[in-house]
Amino acid sequence: MKPRVRSEFIKSGYVFAKSPAEIAKEYGFLEVAMLGSNENPSPPSDKVLRAAAGELSGVNRYPDPKAAEFHAALRKYICDAPVVTSGLGMDGVIETVIRTLIEPGDKVVISTPTFSMYGLAAKAASACVVNVSRNPDFTVDIASFLHEAKDAALSFLCTPNNPTGTVTPVKDIEYILDKIDGVLFLDCAYVEFSDTDYLPLLSSHDNLIIGRTMSKVYGLAGLRIGYAFVPAWLEAPYAVAATPFTLNRVSEAAASAAVSESSYRESFIAHVRKWRDIFMTEIPFPVYLSGANFILIDTAPRSGDGSAEFLAKNGVLVRSCTSFPGLGDTFIRVSIGADWENERFLTAVKKL
Ligand SMILES: *Cc1c(COP(=O)(O)O)cnc(C)c1O
Repeated sequence: MKPRVRSEFIKSGYVFAKSPAEIAKEYGFLEVAMLGSNENPSPPSDKVLRAAAGELSGVNRYPDPKAAEFHAALRKYICDAPVVTSGLGMDGVIETVIRTLIEPGDKVVISTPTFSMYGLAAKAASACVVNVSRNPDFTVDIASFLHEAKDAALSFLCTPNNPTGTVTPVKDIEYILDKIDGVLFLDCAYVEFSDTDYLPLLSSHDNLIIGRTMSKVYGLAGLRIGYAFVPAWLEAPYAVAATPFTLNRVSEAAASAAVSESSYRESFIAHVRKWRDIFMTEIPFPVYLSGANFILIDTAPRSGDGSAEFLAKNGVLVRSCTSFPGLGDTFIRVSIGADWENERFLTAVKKL
């Protein structure tokens, strides 16, 4: 046969971090500092591990299609709003929200430079995607964002923004919500590391979706659990559009245990705040104020790819940002990791 593939899927796509095993082997390190994917460097707590392991012997049975235990834990410990989940991380939530709301040709607006998943999923749904650039300091240009978002079916804004770290003030989000006709998806993957809380906006706005994830502060990236607080009208259609059985038995047990426990999360947040300040003062390049567990660094005149390669040779894995459209090609994004990883990075970046 002559293969027929949709043009959207022939080139480009999600960019994954280079594998630490590749780098370790190539440059002769036993262990690589993994600062490329904004993960929590500590393994989950014993309580979470026990909860997950306890479910393994029951995996011959399908999980709870409603993930009721996890949803109850979210309502109890985080926010008492309707909630939706996905077994493919917040990436899966984003994809399902688009599937639920977007007809071919509908307008989807994205504040860029930002996370690639919104554009990839919107294009896969044959949406008409419009990117709106941020200001040179990466704050949101509210007027030009609203100019496009006003009549869009769905708009995406990430705060703290990946890869820039920029936090958009709550009052700006409220202003946007009051002015748009469609829905705003606020990606809050890193909100726990900032001083900002958008959850109170949910009760006054029925056009706001707040996406969150268990992959970053909660240290469960490998289990792929995302969730979102949504307006009440979205809960039922989302369930119809979603792939059945979003969470599995193991991920639901781990996630429920993780949200009910604050010490693991709080100690990582304190660690991130401490190291964020150290990074801001010690990195000998322009850095951007970050509300997240990573820092964007402009390594000009050296390219982002060149800098990432140099750091890899020094046993540090970071993310070159050349694949983020709308960002110059001299940036790298560095996660805050364990003490030894951060120290190795600082030593290496000073030699750049
Ligand atoms: C990591 C990340 C996500 C989603 O992570 P999942 O692992 O799919 O839950 C979503 N948005 C942003 C901005 C991220 O950086």
